[in-house]
Amino acid sequence: MEYQAVRAVPKKLDPLKKFGEEARKKDIILSLHAPYAINLSSPEENKREASIQRLVAASRAAAAMGAFHVTFHPGFYSGQAPEDALRLAIESLKEVREILDDEGLEVELGPETTGKPSQLGSLEEVLAMARAVPGVRPTVDFAHIHAREGGSIAGRLDYARIIDKIEEALGTADGLVIHFTEVELTKSGVGEKRHHELGSGYGPPFRPLAEEMAARGVRWLVISESPILEEDSLKMKEEYLRVLEGSR
Ligand SMILES: [Zn+2]
Repeated sequence: MEYQAVRAVPKKLDPLKKFGEEARKKDIILSLHAPYAINLSSPEENKREASIQRLVAASRAAAAMGAFHVTFHPGFYSGQAPEDALRLAIESLKEVREILDDEGLEVELGPETTGKPSQLGSLEEVLAMARAVPGVRPTVDFAHIHAREGGSIAGRLDYARIIDKIEEALGTADGLVIHFTEVELTKSGVGEKRHHELGSGYGPPFRPLAEEMAARGVRWLVISESPILEEDSLKMKEEYLRVLEGSR
């Protein structure tokens, strides 16, 4: 389950510790989504600094509740060349990592593949961040990749192509945090308009992803990003277990 700190990070850590204890009792693995208001690639230094602090605060909250991974949207191009925005984001991430290491916080930083072409966060870009900064592992949002690439995911081969790319960059795709939902594209055909529940008729399809996961034997934390978070989480879990059962 993903704790949604997307508007603000709670300041009091004690309730988060209790929440984390409850989750462990129920055998629920936690990750945390940091605020949307993060732009690690802003050309304005004060905005970058504020974003660094927000991501640090989110990481402290995650550590308090025992969440091992912090998902965040890395930033925007803001009129810059993509490689310049990427370079700034990597510099910012190094600063965040340094602060966390000083505090002894081992949480994984997870730049997410983003769904809008104006946002930094193509698959290649988040993989470059993971390669450049230790303790960074991308959050792979398949709906966002699908939307960004104009509806690129139809079946297993498309998933295989993406996972191959991840393996090539990181050495392994095992242990990743994954986001999944069905998604409606904008009128232009590129970029996300809104998330839909599973079975909505929009792509990408979950079943072939479950098949690819089972075939490769990867263990992922699959987070539902659909309008009905928990219900679709369970639906995906059941679907995955059915596929796993059938492949034995
Ligand atoms: Zn997100």
